[in-house]
Amino acid sequence: MREENCIFCKIAAGEIPSATLYEDDDFRVILDVNPASKGHALILSKEHYRNLYELDDGLASKALVLAKKMIVRLKDVLGCDGYNIVQNNEEAAGQTVFHFHMHMIPRYQGDKVGIGWHMGELKEKDKEEILNSVK
Ligand code: AMP
Ligand code: ZN
Repeated sequence: MREENCIFCKIAAGEIPSATLYEDDDFRVILDVNPASKGHALILSKEHYRNLYELDDGLASKALVLAKKMIVRLKDVLGCDGYNIVQNNEEAAGQTVFHFHMHMIPRYQGDKVGIGWHMGELKEKDKEEILNSVK
């Protein structure tokens, strides 16, 4: 499964060169070309899925296990102080390339990487509405 004109399909297949850290039958791990910090890497599925909504369940499990392996190794190589795993789904959430990928972003004490949000307060009405509709 692949999509015409999808840049990550081409990178995952090796048709466009990339700084590849790891590769297996299911995934390619590359350095992000516009890193948020030194060592920012991406896990790309080899097959085309728009995002996590569509990702095959087996691959979804494998992706997290791979992310774990990669960051456990990379934290020693990079000497970073922490890691964010980020995975954006759809434009409203910041997705710009519509082919499943996970960001592995090394964090260095005091860095200015902007991953965060204003902490709100859980409203009773929202809580009831969500709990009642999910169950
Ligand atoms: P997202 O906003 O979650 O869709 O993330 C897309 C990411 O892909 C961004 O961090 C880009 O810097 C990165 N990116 C886009 N094109 C390339 C490329 N050709 N090689 C490596 N990374 C890329
Ligand atoms: Zn694709």
